[in-house]
Amino acid sequence: MAQTNLTPMMEQYHEIKKQYPDAFLFYRVGDFYELFEDDAVKGAQILELTLTHRSNKAENPVPMAGVPHVAVQSYVDTLVEKGYKVALCEQLEDPKKAKGMVKRGIIQLVTPGTLMNDKPSEAKESNYLTSVVTTKSCFGLAYSDLSTGEIYATHLKSFAAVSNELLSLRTREVVFNGHLSDKDSDFLHKANITVSEPVELTGKHAEISFAEQNLTNSAEKAAVKQLVGYLLQTQRRSLAHLQVAKSYEVNQYLQMSHTVRDNLELTASAKTGKKMGSLFWVLDKTHTAMGGRLLKQWLARPLLSVEQLNKRQEMVQALIDEYFTRENINDALKGVYDLERLTGRIAFGNVNARELLQLAHSLNAVPTILTAIQKADNKNLQNFARQIDPLKGIAKLITDTIVDQPPVLTTEGGLIKDGIDSQLDRYRDAMNNGKKWLTEMEQDERAKTGIENLKVGYNKVFGYYIQVTNSNKGKVPSDRYTRKQTLTNAERYITPELKEHENLILEAQTKSTDLEYDLFVKLREEVKKYIPALQKLAGQVAELDVFCSFAQVAEDNNYCRPQFHTDNQDVKVIMGRHPVVEQVMKAGSFIPNDVKLTENTDIFLITGPNMSGKSTYMRQMALIAVMAQIGSFVPADSADLPIFDQIFTRIGAADDLISGQSTFMVEMTEANDALQHATKRSLVLFDEIGRGTATYDGMALAGAIVQYLHDEVGAKVLFATHFHELTAMEQTLSHLKNIHVGATEENGKLIFLHKILPGPADQSYGIHVAQLAGLPRKVLRKATKLLNRLEAQGSNLGPASTQLDLFSSASETEEAVPVETPSDSKDELTDKEKDILDEISNLY
Ligand code: ADP
Repeated sequence: MAQTNLTPMMEQYHEIKKQYPDAFLFYRVGDFYELFEDDAVKGAQILELTLTHRSNKAENPVPMAGVPHVAVQSYVDTLVEKGYKVALCEQLEDPKKAKGMVKRGIIQLVTPGTLMNDKPSEAKESNYLTSVVTTKSCFGLAYSDLSTGEIYATHLKSFAAVSNELLSLRTREVVFNGHLSDKDSDFLHKANITVSEPVELTGKHAEISFAEQNLTNSAEKAAVKQLVGYLLQTQRRSLAHLQVAKSYEVNQYLQMSHTVRDNLELTASAKTGKKMGSLFWVLDKTHTAMGGRLLKQWLARPLLSVEQLNKRQEMVQALIDEYFTRENINDALKGVYDLERLTGRIAFGNVNARELLQLAHSLNAVPTILTAIQKADNKNLQNFARQIDPLKGIAKLITDTIVDQPPVLTTEGGLIKDGIDSQLDRYRDAMNNGKKWLTEMEQDERAKTGIENLKVGYNKVFGYYIQVTNSNKGKVPSDRYTRKQTLTNAERYITPELKEHENLILEAQTKSTDLEYDLFVKLREEVKKYIPALQKLAGQVAELDVFCSFAQVAEDNNYCRPQFHTDNQDVKVIMGRHPVVEQVMKAGSFIPNDVKLTENTDIFLITGPNMSGKSTYMRQMALIAVMAQIGSFVPADSADLPIFDQIFTRIGAADDLISGQSTFMVEMTEANDALQHATKRSLVLFDEIGRGTATYDGMALAGAIVQYLHDEVGAKVLFATHFHELTAMEQTLSHLKNIHVGATEENGKLIFLHKILPGPADQSYGIHVAQLAGLPRKVLRKATKLLNRLEAQGSNLGPASTQLDLFSSASETEEAVPVETPSDSKDELTDKEKDILDEISNLY
């Protein structure tokens, strides 16, 4: 574009746009934010705006689209939620007073990781901005939720570990200092993570040295520096609420990959992506948004320390025992607003008087909580309460200063109580006296002129005036009154005296609103000094909220307090239930089951018809482990548990959309993850492994995997399979036990018992399940016939007996092993499958 043709405004626009090439530039012009050029074309399409053109006296009109400044937030949110960035460019001086071009500048860069959505539906969501730095030996990673100011930092060995953290945090934006390979870049793109360049920092920044003060690892420090630097650069406002970064190591917690978290539906249902149907949905009876967010954080990082877990359990137990205390705390919590995010807004300086009052009301709930706790004779609760500083001074300062129902705007007065500031009181007196004087004047003038309906009024254009209806015009004292405005049926006048008082009143009014604003800012600055104390208090309230929630859920659903042991990895859950499935079923209809992985049993090989409850049983175990390790009670009569270090799953058959892998590839990748990384202290759930490929190589792989887990890994394993042939492995693998889910047939109909029983299943009931699914009778009859014929041919049928050989020791092949898989396992072997079988036979 020919630069010479540009208007001064477009020149200024280009100058600013140049610095933010990857952002939509919202350029303030009067009451609108305008988008120009490519931004306008693209923005108009995404935001459904009318695209117009600005003539710049040249042949090429400039595409333009605008949004009203009052509605800008929703447009910004829409773009940022889609992964774009928005640079807000404001007029930095009053256009009326500006000489030449109005000065403009960027006041904020809104990015996916720094978006602070105030939607109530998202109050329990955290939005993390993550920073990753590559160093010679590792990756430093730091993340922060800007709305609360918390910062965490860690260092990781591989980019795979980094990716896993990014996905687990559901981060929307990563600031990365290195070069991404095409594969990694593609991965981040598919995961909907915006990648941003770090900003160059000059000079020292107090926020950075504050945030990194407790870190010792240089990669973590670098990541925090990059993170805070980016925040400073994009936010351009006070970040006084940023907290000291906390260092963590992923192996300090029970580790689960993001797929494991998703598979176990910890915070969202796999089907809908929503809270309903997840473990969080069951456990979240919190009353504050902070409590909800903390519970999610706990679910993301279950603990390994029995000592810490016992502390959490003690609190839950105390709150179960002290019913009335809990009820009182719950009532008080209902009046607590989002202290963490309010504190953030105080730091940014965009909190209004109403929000300060919300803060005060929230603080006022704390003494109620403390009193409730003091009444309970419980040492653990009282110890907890003793740590809490209710910050009564701040609450009082706010409620003493701010009127009970302040307006939303902070610039138009009406915020500050009388008696707070003597100057303000004087202005208010002047205003009141002035107004009193006006009423007296009205009375006076009526008496003097004899005009009964003479009125003193006010409008913005003419100020105060005296109004006389046309019928009384004759009585107006023309020596004193000057006519100012003519209406259809009245005249308006002013007098020098009136104008004099008008000046006094208006001056007092402007001065008083200005002073009120100053006093409000002073109050806000005063409160700002308490940000760290407020954040600490918010954290304590959030914890208490989660403990109450655990207590409530435990009581409502009849959970038990799990016991931990560290001397062995035995698992003993008596009458365990699936916390989510039991909620969606009719009360009492869920069938409880034990998990006894004791006395040298590491692996349960689970068989049983489809739909009988194998998967439910396995997930139930994992969920009980997670619940126990976040400090919650668990759905069982009793639970004696080890501390698990990691959980691995291979569940379900969903393709991994993010990495673009096929079902079978995902299956194998997840299996590999477990085989490579599981330890004796891990829990492994494998559901129907080998299903995604041809029967024989699937079965062969499944068998080999079981054996490897048994011989080499020693983890606790629940392995569900439809390959009945594998059950023969019990004879050779001493730590493996067969179990099955019971089912019976009644009048040709299949009845699921959902009960876990010892030994292998004796039938697969595939045809019965097909019947339940409503397949045409013809198909079912044909299948039954085929099955009968196959069975009649006996177990000397090639493949079945070969399989038997595979998974049992040679001398025990006579042992009756049920082989009832109806269709595929008895298909003729292809040449390729025969080859594979031969190969595998050699292995065993
Ligand atoms: P499988 O993995 O064997 O195909 P699922 O675990 O998916 O079976 O269970 C199928 C359905 O059976 C579940 O959706 C649930 O409704 C029901 N179910 C499973 N376990 C139980 C149980 N213990 N008690 C009652 N119903 C159960």
